[in-house]
Amino acid sequence: MNTPYWLSSSEGRSFDTLKEDISTDYLIIGGGITGITCLYLLSKAGLDVFLMDANRIGFGTSGRNTGKATAQHGYIYSRIENKYGIEWAKLYYKANSEAIDFIENVSRELDIDCQFRRLPAYLFTQDENYVGKLEREFEICRQIGADCSFEKEIPVPLKILCAIKMNNQAQFHPKRFLNGLAEQAVKQGARIYENTRVIDFHPGEECVIKTKNGKNITAKNVIISSHYPCYDGRGFYFARLKPDRSYIIGIEAESFPDAHFINAEDPAISLRFIPEEKILLISGENHKVGHEDDDHYQKLKDFAKEVFNNDNVKYEWSAQDYIPHDYIPYAGYINSDYKNIFIATGYRKWGLTNGIVAATVIRDLILEGKSPYRELFSHLRVKDIFSFNFLKENADMAFQLISGKLRVGETEIPDETGTGITVNVAGKRCGFYREENGDYYLVDITCPHMGCELKWNSQEKSWDCPCHGSRFDYKGNVLEGPAEYGLNSYNEPPNRINPQIM
Ligand SMILES: Cc1cc2nc3c(=O)[nH]c(=O)nc-3n(C[C@H](O)[C@H](O)[C@H](O)COP(=O)(O)OP(=O)(O)OC[C@H]3O[C@@H](n4cnc5c(N)ncnc54)[C@H](O)[C@@H]3O)c2cc1C
Repeated sequence: MNTPYWLSSSEGRSFDTLKEDISTDYLIIGGGITGITCLYLLSKAGLDVFLMDANRIGFGTSGRNTGKATAQHGYIYSRIENKYGIEWAKLYYKANSEAIDFIENVSRELDIDCQFRRLPAYLFTQDENYVGKLEREFEICRQIGADCSFEKEIPVPLKILCAIKMNNQAQFHPKRFLNGLAEQAVKQGARIYENTRVIDFHPGEECVIKTKNGKNITAKNVIISSHYPCYDGRGFYFARLKPDRSYIIGIEAESFPDAHFINAEDPAISLRFIPEEKILLISGENHKVGHEDDDHYQKLKDFAKEVFNNDNVKYEWSAQDYIPHDYIPYAGYINSDYKNIFIATGYRKWGLTNGIVAATVIRDLILEGKSPYRELFSHLRVKDIFSFNFLKENADMAFQLISGKLRVGETEIPDETGTGITVNVAGKRCGFYREENGDYYLVDITCPHMGCELKWNSQEKSWDCPCHGSRFDYKGNVLEGPAEYGLNSYNEPPNRINPQIM
């Protein structure tokens, strides 16, 4: 994966790998915006809390986004109102507005230099099929008390049909913010371990957790903030989340209006300036993981050239997030049985505020046993399941699972270097990749998460799962997503499919 601006400008401090068995009252799995905010809040409340990350904290999607902190999440309010009523739309707006205040207040209080600034956010459309949707969205925004206006023009050279301008939104440097929160959490007594992947999870009054390097953890309470839940707990999150990938380029630009922008239609196009660096982030080209293998960066570069007459590309990177079928995240108890296991996921590319919301919901459930947002973010709302999106995505998952098995690979090992090819060696389907120096890798490309067949992603040189979004490098190491185990090579036994899900 290419290095995002956020990571190259603030690597942050490193933490040790867990080297011994431990017991704790609270274990957080995953150190993105959700896990680190939880760590900060729980340690602030004086609780005994550990955090483990498979990689480094803030190096997941929380370090690979566009750094907008806004309650304007596409045309979300009309969608929520339509499905659940106006009160839930109000709650969603309030929760996400409070999250922006949280970033502002905490960064000021802890003196975190995270480039926080207030500015308006625009949601626009260039597609006449979306004009009615934005009119409706504006009406609902007014009903919930959002400070916004309906516009016919926006201050960037795009011909639009209409837009909603929401005032007093914000942007910030998410990685610097996380670094500051983590430092403070450690001062408050929290402990952090990096390069410590959880691979096994047994629920109970005391949960028993195993790490990849063979260490055992017992924890009275566990918060699963691993982006895609590393343990499903019969919450059927694997059927409730669609993995969606997007691409970002950063171009050098002298100036840009003091606002950020996103369109309502698909594929998305999002614009956000970093004035401190004079870099304009252009993001979009979204697609379901493992479903399109195209030159997405080139398409963003073409857009930059056409709209801004600019081809000074300084950064390019990509990332993915998980989309619930009713567009509302999950945050709270993992299921109705376990009151000591919490989950937070499904932010739909709006997790910088929703992750903070999730962390505060979990903090409130732990400390007070209640939260004003409990029902809104609960897995118990079932209208997500009784939806067209649920049927569509799960039918696609079944199709990918079956059609992947039928796909036959090449029978001869190709000479080509630098590209992944599906080959058939002695009746076994494998993924082949030859490096420039001639070294080659032959790996089992059945996904260790739930058994779907992986597809080659030529942009990132990775094997990607079209069902749930797990990704692996060509050597078979896990890059991201729900899979806990890497890909075995040709001469090893077949991949181990995650027994906890199956
Ligand atoms: C292109 C793009 C642009 C975006 N832009 C914005 C934006 O402008 N504003 C906004 O609000 N949102 C944005 N988002 C969404 C936002 O970045 C994410 O929703 C959010 O960062 C997710 O946070 P997280 O804490 O759930 O996950 P992550 O940040 O991914 O953290 C999860 C952590 O868990 C660790 N982990 C995973 N499995 C294990 C395991 N088994 N054991 C131990 N650790 C594990 C990972 O290593 C990782 O560090 C964007 C998303 C994308 C894809």
